[in-house]
Amino acid sequence: MQKEIAVIRGDGIGPEIIEQALRVLERVAVRYGHTFHFIDVDMGGCALDRWGEPLPAKELRKCLDSDSVLLGAVGGEKRNNVPAELRPEKGLLSLRKALGVYSNNRPAKVWPQLSAVSPLKKEIVDRGIDFLIVRELTGGIYFGEHRTEEKEGITTSVDVLEYSETEIERIGRIGFEAAGKRKKKLCSVDKSNVLASSRLWRKVMHRLAEEYPDILLTDMLVDNCAMQIVRDPSQFDVIVTENMFGDILSDEASMITGSIGMIPSGSLGKGPRGLYEPIHGSAPDLAGKDEANPIGTILSAAMMLRYRFDLPEEAAAMENAVSKYLDAGWRTADIMQEGKKKAGCRRCGQVIMENL
Ligand code: NAD
Repeated sequence: MQKEIAVIRGDGIGPEIIEQALRVLERVAVRYGHTFHFIDVDMGGCALDRWGEPLPAKELRKCLDSDSVLLGAVGGEKRNNVPAELRPEKGLLSLRKALGVYSNNRPAKVWPQLSAVSPLKKEIVDRGIDFLIVRELTGGIYFGEHRTEEKEGITTSVDVLEYSETEIERIGRIGFEAAGKRKKKLCSVDKSNVLASSRLWRKVMHRLAEEYPDILLTDMLVDNCAMQIVRDPSQFDVIVTENMFGDILSDEASMITGSIGMIPSGSLGKGPRGLYEPIHGSAPDLAGKDEANPIGTILSAAMMLRYRFDLPEEAAAMENAVSKYLDAGWRTADIMQEGKKKAGCRRCGQVIMENL
């Protein structure tokens, strides 16, 4: 297989963590007979310094012409005082918009080797925590009408939560398809006891279920889901939900896994491309110190292989290489435990690459 991958190193720890992910991808390509062409794209603060804007049109074009996009992180203190339209994060918003991504897929996995890092009780963690949250990204209350008005001296604010069948159906399909690549269980989360948009959500999900007979669909109310994620997260395989519920549940889920440096994500949308990135930011406090954990970025690259390029064996090989690295007792500073061996960012990438 030949693929062109747009690579955004970005700012802060971005270049260091991306470098490690590229080494691992190169090794996968050699082992499995693929060719990955990496196309460097300037975005964020580095693009601002070089080109005067956070995502110049010609850099965006490279992303749109590629098969997928892999991103480190953008932003940093140096650019905190620039005007809003020139902030590095503006580059990221423009990129998401141009790619038309409407789904954010974020795994919540507690690696057995790191169970002590999770704030949950050992007996809960030992049941196995490995699920994926598929969150709708461009609709719902965040994008509905927002207004504040004053009537007879009393201020009232309104935020509109609106979803069309089309929006629900397209995110629903991503949920069903993701479940098809995992344990074939999809939990649709809504608030259908109260909200009209949630009742439509549930209706569309059940209509779609007829097209995916091998997937077991269940429904759960969002308040119950928030409880179940800490009570018994082992029950979940894939959760699909609307924007605001997904925002809150995915942050809750990331907390139970331990370190932010371990968590990958993928955003999918209208076109054939996806955007794959770790969930953390540019960590300016660690930049250039060879201390950042590159695993979130390496696992984002693995997600890209599984969900975008349909290469499940290669993705699993990358995940196994991470698991072996942890088995061998290596730990970056963010997940360091007593008696373990300290690894820097480069060493971490090196060991994972050699495990392949
Ligand atoms: P952050 O995620 O960069 O850092 C939060 C904390 O987590 C810090 O203590 C940091 O050292 C630690 N951390 C983050 N990634 C780590 C890793 N890989 N290994 C070990 N430790 C890690 O969040 P922040 O400090 O709020 O933001 C810093 C900058 O990043 C800001 O400019 C923000 O706007 C930007 N940001 C960018 C993205 C993105 O590019 N997608 C996302 C979030 C924040």
